[in-house]
Amino acid sequence: MGTRGTQIVGMDVQELLKLLNAAYASEWLAYYQYWLGAKLIKGPMKDAVAAELNLHATEELAHATLLSGRIIQLGGTPVLAPDQWAAFSPCPYDAPSDPFVGVLLDQNIAGEQCAISIYKNLMDITREADPVTYNLALTILSQEVEHEEDLQSLKEDLELMFRRQ
Ligand code: FE
Ligand code: FE
Ligand code: MG
Repeated sequence: MGTRGTQIVGMDVQELLKLLNAAYASEWLAYYQYWLGAKLIKGPMKDAVAAELNLHATEELAHATLLSGRIIQLGGTPVLAPDQWAAFSPCPYDAPSDPFVGVLLDQNIAGEQCAISIYKNLMDITREADPVTYNLALTILSQEVEHEEDLQSLKEDLELMFRRQ
């Protein structure tokens, strides 16, 4: 833990660590949902969509890495066991039980929309209190916004495939 770096945080550090761990747990669930969805996917455009799902999986894992670094910097402990991820995460894990491309896209769009809310909330809470976490949340939020748009644009392409004149 960085002593002075933690002292300058203008809010309850335990409260902040709870929010960071919630985001951290969500990232692992998002990573797995994407990673497995990319393997199970069936239907039109599946190769293009699987490539995007795989890329997003690696980006969610990178978010988990960033969050674990900040948690440890602040003297906290990242969620220790995978069986605690769902309990910590404000975003539900949506199992890819239906492999149809359209269903997977919808599930992951919902996941991105939940992630966007997490980081917007984290930014609102840290705006004045913690510029380091604020900056981290901004970095991740920018990528979640990109993820949402990527998936919505693939969904739009999928729908256009069935358009008649
Ligand atoms: Fe993420
Ligand atoms: Fe994302
Ligand atoms: Mg993308």
